[in-house]
Amino acid sequence: MERKQDRRRLLEPYIEMLSFWGESIEDYLFVLDVKEQQIYFASCIWEKYALPFEGISFSVEELLSVVDMKDRKRVRLSFEDIERGKKDELILEYRMVDRTAKSSWVHFVGKCVTYENEKPSIIVGSISENAVSKRIDQLTGLRNQTVLEKSFLEIFEKNKSGYFLILGIDDFKNVNDKYGRSYGNDQLKRLAEIIEQNIDYEGQIYRLDGDKFGVNLIGYATESVKAFYHIVKASFSVQTDCTVSAGAVCYPDDANEYHRLYQYAEDALKHAKRHGKNRLFFFSIDEYKEHLFFIDLREELFESIKNDFEGFHVYYQPVVRNEDGVLIKAEALMRWKSKQYGEIGPEVFIPILEQTGLILDAGKWILEKAMEQCYIWRKTIPYFRMNINLSYIQLKDKKILDIIFHSLEKSQLPGEAVILEVTESIQLQDYSYFNLLFYQLSKKGVEVSIDDFGTGYSSLGYLKELSVDEIKIDKCFVRQIQNGEYNFRLIKNMIELAHSVNIRVCVEGVETIEERSILKELLPDVIQGYYFGRPESPEQFEKKFLERAQQGKPIVENNKKKVHITNKRLLERKKQNYKRLLDELDEIIYVCDMDTHELYYINKRGKKLTGAYEYTDKKCYEIFQMGTGPCQDCKDINHLNGTFYVKTRKKEGTDICFSVKEKSILWNQKPARLGIATDIWGENIKKQKE
Ligand code: C2E
Ligand code: CA
Ligand code: CA
Repeated sequence: MERKQDRRRLLEPYIEMLSFWGESIEDYLFVLDVKEQQIYFASCIWEKYALPFEGISFSVEELLSVVDMKDRKRVRLSFEDIERGKKDELILEYRMVDRTAKSSWVHFVGKCVTYENEKPSIIVGSISENAVSKRIDQLTGLRNQTVLEKSFLEIFEKNKSGYFLILGIDDFKNVNDKYGRSYGNDQLKRLAEIIEQNIDYEGQIYRLDGDKFGVNLIGYATESVKAFYHIVKASFSVQTDCTVSAGAVCYPDDANEYHRLYQYAEDALKHAKRHGKNRLFFFSIDEYKEHLFFIDLREELFESIKNDFEGFHVYYQPVVRNEDGVLIKAEALMRWKSKQYGEIGPEVFIPILEQTGLILDAGKWILEKAMEQCYIWRKTIPYFRMNINLSYIQLKDKKILDIIFHSLEKSQLPGEAVILEVTESIQLQDYSYFNLLFYQLSKKGVEVSIDDFGTGYSSLGYLKELSVDEIKIDKCFVRQIQNGEYNFRLIKNMIELAHSVNIRVCVEGVETIEERSILKELLPDVIQGYYFGRPESPEQFEKKFLERAQQGKPIVENNKKKVHITNKRLLERKKQNYKRLLDELDEIIYVCDMDTHELYYINKRGKKLTGAYEYTDKKCYEIFQMGTGPCQDCKDINHLNGTFYVKTRKKEGTDICFSVKEKSILWNQKPARLGIATDIWGENIKKQKE
């Protein structure tokens, strides 16, 4: 009793002061007795919130009863921190439920004014409804972006980790346009509710602009983030006919600063939407850097082209005649050097040129350059020709014929000197369009070649439908040709098929002498690849290849390297041939293990005569004598020591009579009998005798 009065005395001055201020202030001012967990208000907070009775003093538990369930655990934990002396100050935002069951955000601030045993004893502060109204989204009742930024300051300060997600309704604009704004608003509220139901007490949700929500999943691991997203996605799609995408960023690993974190999450969300929507995408710093790299390249390419193709140049790769390896043409290949990043491969910059439409300018540029070069080289080698790549986008350009013909005129090059390479792809299936185009080109002598043949859609079909002059069999078929029967046969068939409809064949990507040797046999018309030469600058091309061609010499000396074919495929073919030879014989050839009497090999004739098609694992006496144990011969032959033994032997129970010639050999490191048996009265022999 005494103690309670003491405490009341202790609190009195603060309560009095608050009563004075409380009348003129809308906020609910309070004094918190930490030790007793009792809170005194300066105004009638019970009027608005359904506290258990009409009074000015409530226990902390009683106050918590009007805190929204979603925030109650978090608020309770903060009060406990004060009670345990872990904190001496409270700044909180949470929702309180009023007498109309409406939940709204309040700002709670409390500061310690008296300590006891180094722990807070009395806290003075206020609960404010107005302070937060500016930071609350009116539609969903969620806090907005300003709060998000502040909360991340605290998160980073306290070195917390987790994931920040931005979720967005897919095609929200269409939803609004189609069903009206109020329907759209309902979807937003629905999504907000679903998110709230599925985050834990520490998780925070914010309404961002438009259809987006920010969710901070403190302490979550990747798998839990995925699980969270999937449950939100599933619930949302069940309750509405909309879908939701999300971008997630891991902090502090990927970003330890709010603005960057936000930007990355937005980027990840965009990525998720670009890649089909209704999905979650985790931000990756490497992919992001790559993305920035591409943006840089794109800007630089625009700049380069604007500045008269600054940084662009053309390399030329030799193409030789198959029969003698003499240079007959070149493929013009575009090169580009970025100011920022140095030399960039065409497999990187060509797709950017295509996406941006810049390929139309760059393609025209290389046509002119390569034709100009071809004109010069034809002065040295009159039959010299040039292969130039055309992108599908150029082919679809209405002005393409004018551009090509104009370049020819400008360079004074005859059309016959030019072969245009178009990549095999599904788009080429518009046969009537392309055939008309190719026909117009052919009238000027310009030829068309199908590049990367065999890699695209329905390759062989093209040859029938498209009127082209050449195919370039892709380098992927050349790899391992010396070891694989499959690629060998494929190339062989492609070449035969093309030749049967009068289409020339170039095989690309020939790198080794082995590949060259095998391909030579298959008789393509021309060959191209590093074995003959890499793409070079015009100066190097002249030095390395043109001078030799002028003298009619192959560009790689045939006897320069000894062709040593360690060629499994050829060996395999040889073996097949030997086997065929053996099958032609009228004699039975066999090998028999001397210890086990098992047969190893019987050629076709043997199988026919003995009737033993499945001789493996069979004993020789079972096949030849139909006996049940080894015959005398086996014992005799042991004494022969490598010389032939000849005798006549009749097969028991049949008319077949063999002349047998056998000798002992080592077979697979084991003593064996090699035998040749002739059917003395057999069909073929009989005929000869007659
Ligand atoms: P592509 O038209 O198939 O050109 C052949 C590519 O194979 C070239 O790569 C060449 O250097 C490479 N190559 C040649 N021989 C060998 C070999 O023995 N082994 C290997 N591994 N590769 C070999 P590059 O110059 O990097 O060009 C790549 C691609 O970029 C070209 O493939 C083509 O699709 C495109 N490209 C290059 N220049 C142009 C152009 O002016 N216009 C268009 N539209 N595309 C171009
Ligand atoms: Ca090509
Ligand atoms: Ca190619």
